[in-house]
Parts: sequence; C-alpha cells; structure tokens
Amino acid sequence: MQSHCPHCGWPDVETYQVVSRRLTRDSSLLSWTRCACGSLQMRQQARGKETTILTRGRPTADMSRLAH
Ligand SMILES: [Zn+2]
Repeated sequence: MQSHCPHCGWPDVETYQVVSRRLTRDSSLLSWTRCACGSLQMRQQARGKETTILTRGRPTADMSRLAH
C-alpha cells in the first residue's frame, strides 16, 4: 500500500490510531483507524492479502466546521 492521506499526507501504511477492529464472517479484518489529521478510515484486510482502504472521512477540522 503506497497511498497517503489526501488531507495531511500521512502515509497510510503507518496507522496513526486504531479506533476499532473486528473480524468479519469471511475472516477478513475490518478496522476503523484515525489519521493524524482526524480523518477516519475504514480498512479491510482479507486473510493473507494487503490492506485496502474502503472509505475515508474528512479531517476533524472540516467536521467541526460543518457542525457550526
Ligand atoms: Zn490525514
């Protein structure tokens, strides 16, 4: 995985913070991680496969701006 966060440029291989992890029925690992900028990512890793990022949220700063 060579991608970077589009918001802050953090390398996706270096997980900043794991929010939650769970194993799905087909034995792939689904995890929510938070980037250094506060953006949430949903990652999926099938057994023996590389991690892929399914969705990526906005940075925290953007979300607080939306709430106001
Ligand atoms: Zn980021």
